[in-house]
Amino acid sequence: MKIKGLCGNEKIVNSLLTCAVSGNLPHAVLLEGEKGLGKLTLARLTAAALMCGGVDRPCMECRECKNVLGGTHPDVIEFDDIKINTVREVRTQAFISANQSDCKVFILKCAGEMLPPAQNTLLKVLEEPPRGVYFILCCERKNEMLQTIRSRCTVYSLQRANKGEIREYLNEQFPATDEDVIADAVEMCSGNISRAVGYIRGEADNRYIQISRDIVEALLSDSEWELMKAISALEKDRQSFSPVIDTLSEVCAQALSVRCGADTSDRICADCAERLAGVYTLNQLDNLYYTLRNFSDDGDKRLNHKLSITCLCLKLRQALQRQTTVRR
Ligand SMILES: [Zn+2]
Repeated sequence: MKIKGLCGNEKIVNSLLTCAVSGNLPHAVLLEGEKGLGKLTLARLTAAALMCGGVDRPCMECRECKNVLGGTHPDVIEFDDIKINTVREVRTQAFISANQSDCKVFILKCAGEMLPPAQNTLLKVLEEPPRGVYFILCCERKNEMLQTIRSRCTVYSLQRANKGEIREYLNEQFPATDEDVIADAVEMCSGNISRAVGYIRGEADNRYIQISRDIVEALLSDSEWELMKAISALEKDRQSFSPVIDTLSEVCAQALSVRCGADTSDRICADCAERLAGVYTLNQLDNLYYTLRNFSDDGDKRLNHKLSITCLCLKLRQALQRQTTVRR
């Protein structure tokens, strides 16, 4: 079954749906994963499997399924507010019996943003949940949740999809789209399905591409001040941070391919990659690539945005300075 908004993570999807259909869904589930991997879709799908009146649950066709997936089912209550009063409201509602079904699902879309007092309030109902009540908490990183909450949840960590999965998804959802555009989307999205779809639809604000280009320019100019200036664009634009790191990694990987004799001229930002390859050695590009990848994997440790930006600036410079620059 192909589900709109979900790509990859098949094991997790199957496991959650099987649990829901067989009546074994844990009463508290924590879905962890970066923005754009389909946490909310998966939460709704799981709830649909509980509520569905069809035979092959979730059938996606019945009224129950449609309402859950559309976010309008009276017994699947979604919250995106994180205030303590909202959590108190969740607690109160959990003890009121369901409207139409024999169970109730609470989807907390931004659980990771709740402050400890709100989380502690939630903890009380997670410890002794009323019968037939399920909680699905979504967060970007499970470490955002108190250990006491985590220990009461079954945690599922959504991963980015691989290129093959993204390509298959895009070909199926956008059959009329040009193959080159699909190929670009696959390369640029770094496994994040919503970023890929945004790119195809032309909604992706191309801002992160522009920032990435400016950073490459600065790296080429070898000017500390230019680099600071280019990276500081991220200061007011948190959303672009991760896409910029991914785009830079992609450009760097392309530059490495160019250095090894490959032709990547059909790729997006190919000009940037070519120029990087013309200025920096294989070792330097390799350093730069791994610096960026580590930065991307270190998401958990990045609590202070401003500090991350300064750190990025420093690390990029270090990566390229480890050897003497060979210019040709
Ligand atoms: Zn159904």
